[in-house]
Formats: sequence, C-alpha cells, structure tokens
Amino acid sequence: MSRAFNSLERVLRLESQQGFQNKAVVGGIRQFATFWVNQAREEAVDEADNALVEQVADLLMDYGRLPGTEAREKAVKGLLDRLEHRQKQVADREGAVPPRQMVTPPPPPKSKPARARQPMPKPAAAATADPPPKTSPTVDEQPLTAVAPDPEGLKQPVVKLPGVGPKIGSLLAKLGAETIRDLLHIFPRRYDDYTLMKPINRLAYGEQVTVIGTIWETRARRTGNQTRVQSIINDGTGTIQATWFNQPWLTESLKAGMQIVLSGVVEQFLGRLVFQSPEWEPLDIEPLRTRRIVPVYPLTKGLTSHKMRELMKTAVDQWADRVPDPLPAGLLQRLDYFPLPQALRQMHFPDSQGDLHRARQRLVFEELLLLQLGMLRQRRDWQSIPGVPLVVDQEAVNRFTASLPYALTGAQERVVAEIIADLQRPIPMNRLLQGDVGAGKTVVAAAAMVAAVAAGKQAALMAPTEILAEQHFQGLSGLLTARGVTLRLLTGSTPAREKGIIYDELRRGAAQLVIGTHALIQEAVQFKSLALVVIDEQHRFGVDQRQALRDKGQNSLDDHGAPHLLVMSATPIPRTLALSMFGDLDLSILDEMPPGRQEIKTRWLRPSERERAYSFVRGQIDAGRQAFFICPLVEESDNVEAKAAVEEHARLQKEIFPNYRLGLLHGRMSADEKEAAMRAFYQGDTHVLVATSVIEVGIDVPNSTVIVIEGANRFGLAQLHQFRGRVGRGQHQSYCLLISESVTPEAEERLEALERSNDGFVLAEKDLELRGPGEFFGRRQSGLPELKLASLLDVEMLTIARQEADLLFRLDPWLEKEENQLLQERVMQFWQDAGDVS
Ligand code: ADP
Ligand code: MG
Repeated sequence: MSRAFNSLERVLRLESQQGFQNKAVVGGIRQFATFWVNQAREEAVDEADNALVEQVADLLMDYGRLPGTEAREKAVKGLLDRLEHRQKQVADREGAVPPRQMVTPPPPPKSKPARARQPMPKPAAAATADPPPKTSPTVDEQPLTAVAPDPEGLKQPVVKLPGVGPKIGSLLAKLGAETIRDLLHIFPRRYDDYTLMKPINRLAYGEQVTVIGTIWETRARRTGNQTRVQSIINDGTGTIQATWFNQPWLTESLKAGMQIVLSGVVEQFLGRLVFQSPEWEPLDIEPLRTRRIVPVYPLTKGLTSHKMRELMKTAVDQWADRVPDPLPAGLLQRLDYFPLPQALRQMHFPDSQGDLHRARQRLVFEELLLLQLGMLRQRRDWQSIPGVPLVVDQEAVNRFTASLPYALTGAQERVVAEIIADLQRPIPMNRLLQGDVGAGKTVVAAAAMVAAVAAGKQAALMAPTEILAEQHFQGLSGLLTARGVTLRLLTGSTPAREKGIIYDELRRGAAQLVIGTHALIQEAVQFKSLALVVIDEQHRFGVDQRQALRDKGQNSLDDHGAPHLLVMSATPIPRTLALSMFGDLDLSILDEMPPGRQEIKTRWLRPSERERAYSFVRGQIDAGRQAFFICPLVEESDNVEAKAAVEEHARLQKEIFPNYRLGLLHGRMSADEKEAAMRAFYQGDTHVLVATSVIEVGIDVPNSTVIVIEGANRFGLAQLHQFRGRVGRGQHQSYCLLISESVTPEAEERLEALERSNDGFVLAEKDLELRGPGEFFGRRQSGLPELKLASLLDVEMLTIARQEADLLFRLDPWLEKEENQLLQERVMQFWQDAGDVS
C-alpha cells in the first residue's frame, strides 16, 4: 500500500518546495488526483485505507480552486499530517507481527537480492531535503538504531556486492577498489547540483536545473549513422525538447504519458531552450541522478557513470553504517564533526551543500590527523632513543664566530642559538635548517660542530658530491685548523692507505671532525663518540643513507646514545607548508641574506636574441670569468637528454665558441666522469660547462658569472632558481639568461617572477601558487602519504589537526588505549606505502 502514498507524499513535498503554485505535477494536482486515486484504490488493504483514499482524492481535486497559497499550504500540511499518522499506524502494526525484511538492518550482501535498485521507492530526497525529524520510520526507511560496525565484512571483495560481477569487479579494481571499504573511499570527482527545480516556463539559458513533466511524444531520427532520440516534455507551464544521441533504445523507455524528471544544463538550439543528453529518471523512483546533488565519480573504460552511481548507492546503503569510526567519540563531539558513517553517506549522496561541506570537512580532518600522528610517531620513535647531552662551551663557540671574517647575520645567530640549545638536551636533536642558496648555512653548521668538538665529541658532515665535500673541507679547514681542530676529508677517491689512517683516527678520537660523501657510511667507518651528524643538501640522500650515518653515532665506541642530527636544505618551502612536510622535524630558517649580496641580473631572451647571449658570454670569458649552459629538459628519457646535451656541446664548441674549452656534464656519465667534468670547470680548465639538469646542486665556482638556460619555459620555478644559484657566488656581478619562446601564460609568469625576484622564499610561494601543492611536492619530497581530499595548504585545518594530534599523543603516546586502537591501525596503514620521512 505504501507505493501510492509514497508518491503522494513526494508530490506534496515538491509542491510545498515550489511554493504551492499547483505546479508540482504536470497539469496541476487535479490531474494527478485522477491518476492517483485509481492506483490507491487498488492498493488499499482495509476500510481505513479506503476511507483515507477517498478523502484525499476529494481534497486533491479541489486543490487548484483553493483561494491562495495560504489555503493551499494548510491543505498540503493537513494531508502530510494524515500520511504521517497513517505511517505510524502501519509501523505499529508491523511491529506487532514478526518484523519484515526491510525493518531489520540489511543482511550481509551474500543474501541480498541481486537487484541494485530497491523495488520499493523511498520518499524523494529532493522533496524531503529537510525531513521532519519526528517522523517514525516507515517500513522502507532505514531504522534509526545504529548497526554494529563490521570491519571484517568491509574487507570482503567488491564482487560480494549485489550487482557486481567479476567484470565490474575488475573495473573497480582499476579504480583502486578491491574491497567494499576501498569502494566507499572512492569519492566523487565533483557533484552536479540538480536541487534547483523550476517550471519549464521559467528556465534560463545555462542554468543547471531539474524539471518534472509528462512526456508528450518521443521520436527517433537518423542522420547518417547517428540516431537522435527526441522527447517533448510538458509540465503545464510549457514544453521543452530533450535530445539524446546514439541511444536508440530510449524510445522504448521514454513512452508518451510517462512522468519524468530531467536534470541538466539548459542549452539553446535554433533560438529555443532545449536539453541535450540530460540525466533522467521516472518520477516514481528514488532519485539517484536527478533532483539532487548528484555525485560524479572517476570512471574507467567500460564502467558507466550510471552503473557506478547505482552500485555506490548499494554500497553506501548497505555498508556505510557498518564502517567503524577511527576517531574517538569525544573528539568528534568536541569538534562537532560527523561520525564516519554519516560523513561517508553525505560525501556520496549529499542531502544538501551544507551536509556535503560537513562531510568533506570531517574526512579532510581525518587525513590531516593521520598525517600529523604519523609524523609525531616518527619523532617519538627517534626521540625514544636517549641522546647524548653535550656540555657546551659557549665561550668556544663565541671565539669561533668572532674569528670569522664577517659578522653573523641576525638569522644565523638565532639559528646557532636554537641548535646550541638542542645540543644540551638529552633528547637527540632532529632539526632541518632551511635557507636559500648562499644564505650561509655552512657556517651555522660549523658553529654547531665547534660546540660538539669543544664538548669533547666528534662531528661528521656528509655532502652529496665529492666536489662539495672538498669545498666544505677547504672552507672549514681555513676556519678551524687554527682553532686546534683536527679535520679529515673522506671520499670515494681518498687513497686506501689514507683511508686506513683516517679510520684509525676516527676510532681513537684523534680526528674530531670528518667531512665526506657516502664514503662516511662504509662498514669500516667507526667513531669513538660521534655526537653530531650534519647532512648537506639533504634531499639528495635517501632515508637509508641518512639513517646509516645516524647509526654510526649510536654505535660509537664510547657513547651509545643517538647523535644530534642537523639536515640542511637550500630548497625553501613556504612556511604554510613546513608544518605538514616536516612535522617530525624542528625547523630553523635562515630568512636573511648576508649583507652586500648582489642581485643576479636575470633576463628573459627570445630565441632570436640567442646571438646576443653568446656574445655576452664571450665578453665574460674574455674578462676571465666562466659560464654554464643548461640544456633544455627533454622528457622522453635520460638517454635522449644526454644525447641532446652531447649534440649541444658539440655545436657550441664547433660553431659558437671554437676558441674556448667546453666541458660536458649529463646524467648518463659515470660518477667519476661527472666528478672529473666538475673538477675541470672548478679549476678553470674549462671555460664553459654544458650541463643537463644534473647540475642542480653541489658545485660552487665563485669565478662563474653567467648561466644560460635554454628552453627555460620547460623548467619549474624552484629548479630555475636553483640553477641560478650556481652563479653569483663570488665577488663579481653575475647574470642569468633565460632563453625561451613566448609561451603559455603560466610559463610566462614563471619567467617574469624570476626576472623580478632573487628571493627563494618569494619564488617558492609563487611556485606553489602556480602549480598547487600536489606538483609542488611531487619532485621534492616523496615520502608523504597521498592525500585524497585534504590540501596541504589548508593551514587552518592543519593547525587543528596538529593540535588534536598533540593532544592525543600527550594523553596516549602509543595510541594503545582501547578507544585509540583503530586510529593507531589507520595511522600505520596510511603511512605504510609512503615510507619514512625522517
Ligand atoms: P649556503 O647556505 O648556500 O650553503 P654558504 O654557506 O655556502 O651558503 O655561504 C655562501 C657564502 O656566504 C660563503 O662564501 C660564506 O663565506 C658567505 N657568508 C656566510 N655567512 C656570511 C655572513 N654573515 N656575512 C658575509 N658572508 C657570509
Ligand atoms: Mg651549502
């Protein structure tokens, strides 16, 4: 009996939503009444029903004649009340007899009928966007009581869902959904909001809208090999034509006389408003793709959006309420977030934009919380190993800084103080020092190493290339040997005999400071008491390599605590991102350049001006300077890129700079060949170094004053800035020449930004703005878990997540309390594939 009453309820709600215009149904409510009363009479089961049907019919027949909206509103309210009353009676009756199938929670999927669409319609969601909260459940509504979480059930493969066979199952797998739980976490790409319902005579071009009407006629037309199905739909206020392409079977479904719901964007054809391929549904089914905020899912070939929506609906209806919530109830209450089942339901099939927003907010929060908890966990793991508190001789540090040929900048002084404070703690330091190219990170590290040595311990500095290690060694020898510190340089090319001596000195503690490359983490290297580890250009090392050097500290002969760790990076990260990227590290920023640093003059030249660039370079070389040429980025492969570099090198040597010596550096050369090329340039044996992007870091040649970057539009902003940092390292005015076609507006903005600013932080913000966080991170930091919904730029949300993570950790550092266990499990899962960031 519910069918007729449900469709009545739907019409009445629609009518109230439309302001009692008597337009909820084509031809008016009276028209509807004649059709309705026949169905209702058939379905009536007892005298009470019969009486109700006749009364309702009378009311409906008169509805159009009621004198105004107020009277109509009263009539509709009265009818809805009676329907509600009847539903209560039915529910009571049903309750007295053994419960019917639909009253109990849906059984596990195995025993579900294979049909995805429920045979019994529910009230239209759009028409009941805000259902009266007191309504007791009808037979076909979900019970209000919560069902038990069923984590095991959720692990079942998607084929356990009704309507999903092996074929659909494999398509879903392509989208990343193996289990039912996975499927629930495939979120819509976007939503089409079809909650705006309008009478046809009020439609406007371009709006996204829903109309309800009756099909007057449907015809198929063939032009060439294309079929168009056209229907004329009338809603009592007007008619509109809808067209579908290449779906001839629609003539079978879209019969004249049928009540239909159309949702789509209103378009124009030959001066008339039309729908083209609108979504449609019969009026009397629960809306899935019309009359609501319709989810639009990511798809894969062979999976239609209709099918996806249908099976998602099944999954959500049957399983959303069984998803256990990893967030503790107290937290949800305090922050007023949706519980997970509700968030999932609203994320897939939102009742309103407000509910969608809340659902998303809750899911975003959860992701960011997992991110922060993971970072705190790493931090805790690291800090749970006792460190070696150093007795710092501040005087020794002061003497060192006073001996420098320059005064430290304010930023350098601040960071040195931060580090010295860390060194004295029993917890191992875990600090990232960020500063633009040339900001003076080395001397900060040196001050820290002096503190360690003055405390009677050893320190090690690891750099990614031999040349860089050598440069550090020379620079620091100059500053430290005079202070009685014994330094050693240890790289791959250190002769074996000398290596043996250094190993021995490190074991005995006779060498206090060692600077080197990967050679530092060889088996044979052992320290007496390594208390400070510094890693330069940290992103050039893998997690394992960084860890290996830490282990050297922990396995020192005399001390067994974890060493203090300082990692350095010349890649500025906007402050807004530092919290999420380096949540496990303490952050020190050198945001002030040493005084007197000259701007590197940067110019963007067209390819037609290339000759000017060449003659400028000749002038610089003749003045005794050196130059870099960066080859364009070639996407296909390393090989192709290397080949292009080889050709460019040959061309430049032969045709442009026949009188100068040109070196070559690319990714396909062996490590030795690379070192040799860099060394030749460093020592001035070559005038020009032609290189691919491998040159990004690790070479400091103060005599080089010009860098020419070909195909500059192909590189990212941060990378271009790093290239530019290769020059301007000595006392000579330096130049950066960007060569690029006039290009996309975005590339243009990049090149102009580079011309305007020399400040790495400013450029990093710009880069982030232009590319968005996903890409911004892409190249820089693998090791962060993938975020599905959250943005790392959402500072407000990040801050909340960080606070909550801190709070959770303070109360339950190992997340082992009952209520936090699921959360702990999720954190592990979330971070599993991402590796370690620390
Ligand atoms: P980066 O941060 O890129 O590693 P470096 O440590 O190599 O920078 O420093 C770049 C140059 O700046 C070096 O030649 C160094 O001697 C010099 N320098 C560092 N600090 C100062 C300062 N406070 N005043 C003047 N020059 C400085
Ligand atoms: Mg450096």
